[in-house]
Amino acid sequence: MSPRVPAAELDSVFGLLANELRIEILRTLWAQHPESLSFSDLRSSVDIRDSGKFNYHLDVLVPKFVRKSDGEYLLTHAGRQVIGAAVSRTLTDADDVTVEDVPAGECMFCSGSLMARYENGVATVDCAACDDLITRMPIPPNTVANIDAEALPEVFSKHLLTVTHQLSRGFCKLCYGQVDASLTVFSSVESVTHCSPLDVQFECRECGDQTHLNAGGVVMDHPAVTSLLFDAGIDLRRVYIWELTSLLDPEVTTVSEDPLQLHLTIHLNGETLDLTLDDTATVIAYDRR
Ligand SMILES: [Zn+2]
Ligand SMILES: [Zn+2]
Repeated sequence: MSPRVPAAELDSVFGLLANELRIEILRTLWAQHPESLSFSDLRSSVDIRDSGKFNYHLDVLVPKFVRKSDGEYLLTHAGRQVIGAAVSRTLTDADDVTVEDVPAGECMFCSGSLMARYENGVATVDCAACDDLITRMPIPPNTVANIDAEALPEVFSKHLLTVTHQLSRGFCKLCYGQVDASLTVFSSVESVTHCSPLDVQFECRECGDQTHLNAGGVVMDHPAVTSLLFDAGIDLRRVYIWELTSLLDPEVTTVSEDPLQLHLTIHLNGETLDLTLDDTATVIAYDRR
């Protein structure tokens, strides 16, 4: 991940939070959100007698984490993000949540049995038979914390679907900044997809977060693909998306290198869908036969 914000600037942001009273103020405003609180209500909720001290710490949080408007105090987006992440355990307990091997469907390479697991904040699906890694992605521990172990593959699949939709619509999975998508096949970027022409990299313009996805998954949102799946009786909400072999392992040809264009041919239930993708993995032409 490339650093976009100088360390000194990050240090000053974290410095603003390095105080118990400030955290208590944020937590109190969080409990009240989306309503605002007046100075006196906020102070009595936080329960501190020393008004000078309270005033000082509240002022430190304005305007980055707390917005003051007409004498009322309200969390900003950044304030909601930090305290929301903290109270929902996104920022804590990652190492405490572990889910051991759970059956996760069939391998698209060898038809062996897949296993899903969650450890150290990362969900993984792999195949014991052919040793292939099918998919791996960080997932916040709060997403997994209170589920039954056998639900892990379903939760992971839905999470992947959500992240794929979010990225393919242009939003960073971490900070909601704008992302740029690119096919990596003729670049110096190393492919992490089983078939290198299908590797798509998303990079956030704001935080630099990078995610690699399979182009077959990236186009899942396109109406021509959705309707192909629907006509074949496949409901994306009810399958493990790593089992959609026809989508994730299509016939691939490079139409041209400059400008880069990729041709995917997807066969499903006797139907064929041809897709042409540009260098940002956007569908620019399709034909169903
Ligand atoms: Zn396998
Ligand atoms: Zn971002």
